[in-house]
Amino acid sequence: MKALHIFVCLALIALLIWVNQTIVPDDAVAYGGLSWVGWASILLVGFGVGFLAIFNDSTRAFGFFRSRDEKAGPPIHVRKLDSAELKELGLDKYRGPSYPHPVIFPERCIGCQACVDACPHDVLAIVDGTAAAVAPDLCMEDTACQAECPVNPKACIVINTAKEVRSLPTPTRDGASFQTNVPGCYIIGDVSGVPLIKNAVKEGAEVIANIATDLAGAPPEAKAEYDVAIIGIGPGGASAAAAASEAKLRYLGIEQDKILSTIEHYPKGKYIFFKPDTKDWFGGISVAGLGLTKAKYGGDANSDNKTIIDAIGSQFADLVRQQAQTFHTELIEKIPTALRQDLSAPLSAKLEKELTHRIATFLRTKGSGDWASLYQTHFLSDRDNLIAGFRSEIADQLQTKIPGDQRENILDVWLGNLADKSVSINENESCKAVQRAQDGDYFTIKTELGNEKAPHTYRARRVIIAIGLRGAPNKLRLPNEDLKIAIEGREEAKVIYGLSNPMDFRGKHLIVVGGGNVAVEAAVDLIAVRDGAAISPRKAEDMNKVTMLIRDNLAPTVKFGNKLQLYNCSDEGLIDLRFGVGIKEMREKEVVLENVVTKEEVGTIPNDYIFALIGGERPNRFLESIGITIK
Ligand SMILES: Cc1cc2nc3c(=O)[nH]c(=O)nc-3n(C[C@H](O)[C@H](O)[C@H](O)COP(=O)(O)OP(=O)(O)OC[C@H]3O[C@@H](n4cnc5c(N)ncnc54)[C@H](O)[C@@H]3O)c2cc1C
Ligand code: SF4
Ligand code: SF4
Repeated sequence: MKALHIFVCLALIALLIWVNQTIVPDDAVAYGGLSWVGWASILLVGFGVGFLAIFNDSTRAFGFFRSRDEKAGPPIHVRKLDSAELKELGLDKYRGPSYPHPVIFPERCIGCQACVDACPHDVLAIVDGTAAAVAPDLCMEDTACQAECPVNPKACIVINTAKEVRSLPTPTRDGASFQTNVPGCYIIGDVSGVPLIKNAVKEGAEVIANIATDLAGAPPEAKAEYDVAIIGIGPGGASAAAAASEAKLRYLGIEQDKILSTIEHYPKGKYIFFKPDTKDWFGGISVAGLGLTKAKYGGDANSDNKTIIDAIGSQFADLVRQQAQTFHTELIEKIPTALRQDLSAPLSAKLEKELTHRIATFLRTKGSGDWASLYQTHFLSDRDNLIAGFRSEIADQLQTKIPGDQRENILDVWLGNLADKSVSINENESCKAVQRAQDGDYFTIKTELGNEKAPHTYRARRVIIAIGLRGAPNKLRLPNEDLKIAIEGREEAKVIYGLSNPMDFRGKHLIVVGGGNVAVEAAVDLIAVRDGAAISPRKAEDMNKVTMLIRDNLAPTVKFGNKLQLYNCSDEGLIDLRFGVGIKEMREKEVVLENVVTKEEVGTIPNDYIFALIGGERPNRFLESIGITIK
């Protein structure tokens, strides 16, 4: 009992004695030794003391929690989607589970796999080219999938969660001119925080138009040998270089790898979507020539149209063929020279199909049944006007509304575009520093060229940063990491920093270094073939001998399915899995291994290629070194 409690009890007794002796008359009726006034006093004092005790305890408890919250930092803003937002997303009538899980909007999804890679619980997978929530009940609502989804508005939204989705910090730039907070330095494409190929290509052309206007009003700068330096030649940089060449600017294009290497690193045969669908294609590299070979959007002639064509007879076919021919002459010019021969026939077929479809659709709006007379009365009477309208619609479709195409076709067309425009780029040259000069209106650009890392310095009046988000791959830091090997009559780099097509490697001794999802998937792909989520070992003649080296442990982000496949392959002796082992020395045909802690040699194994899949450096440090702020 506390002193306070003893004091209260004594005070209570004293009060009772006082009440009984002073207030209560001697003849008053007593109940159990006390008058009613005595009992009432006891109750009153009891309630009062209780209230004081509760008030005191509550104040202390609130104070404790408040001080803990203050120590924990500012409160995190947590919000739930309200009914208006759900309606806006079209989710108000959604009948899915009530627990937290991601919802995919297939019409926005570009199938880039960012959400699948971000999810550590294998909730998502790519199905038919777009993401799908294949195991929503496994969702732990960390919202990484939504945060990583590059499209805007998001194609992946986690619902029924109170968790906040933290947006990724982006470099400071003016939305209209693309200029950063460093005057004269512009930023476009993925690295600016705006994802997607279509956006990067559009920004590439627009930034050149802005720079041309800016330079036209600026005094000449004799110290700079270039008007504009373009750092990074992905879709954004390639579009900028082509636009700069057309605008007759003195441009310098610098690419650390090969032109359009991002696209080249996509899996072979990947269908690339040109989204957002709401925007037309615009930029320095064009899409004329894409979508002609039968890819996802190819199709046969509409059978309903055939009825109309047959009913009208040969004059319809003759007219379509002749119109398509003249139109072909105009459009083939827009296709890169190197591809014209191959794409001539598919272009003619496409033009005939589109013209037929439009004329048939027009006739259907005028009636049905007697197609020959509808053709005479409504079409032939206004033939030239109608054909001109159809032609402009088809031209627009073939040059700005291509939904996408396969990786290989896209590379052919864009590299052809750049060759036709004589765009020249310094490949295999990495930009190391960009600095605004103190003695004039220009920038100094420092680079390293080739495997020898030969230093170069350029001066350009304006700079465009178009380096994407891939960053430079982390290196193994071996003294001879650039080692070239002679293999099947070719000279190739021994260390490879990405795996595009696993079937390029058969019957080889391979080492995969890394402990993340990318490394695990690569190791499995080099010894097995996938059929959906299942894998089966490659045929004996395609089999590789794979050793996987993991410095420490598998990364915590490695998916359960990936771990399972890796350990199964290891148990079956298909992958030689070694933890705590690294590379001590690399020779042309073998590799010496070491214990990463003791540095003791632990063996020498035969080896053709090493896959260094140990992540990459995000470009933020490079941007900050230029003076660009990231918020
Ligand atoms: C697997 C996958 C699938 C995708 N699918 C689609 C899709 O279907 N549709 C779509 O629209 N988008 C897709 N994307 C996204 C798309 O690839 C990017 O939005 C697009 O490539 C951005 O172009 P960019 O020019 O901004 O950057 P990038 O294409 O990343 O090009 C940047 C270039 O800069 C170079 N570089 C970097 N640092 C330096 C340096 N210091 N010096 C010199 N050069 C440097 C790089 O080597 C690279 O070539 C996909 C992405 C991935 C990974
Ligand atoms: S990343 Fe997180 S929120 Fe998204 S599906 Fe996976 S577990 Fe759920
Ligand atoms: S990250 Fe977004 S765009 Fe990419 S696959 Fe997932 S949902 Fe689709």
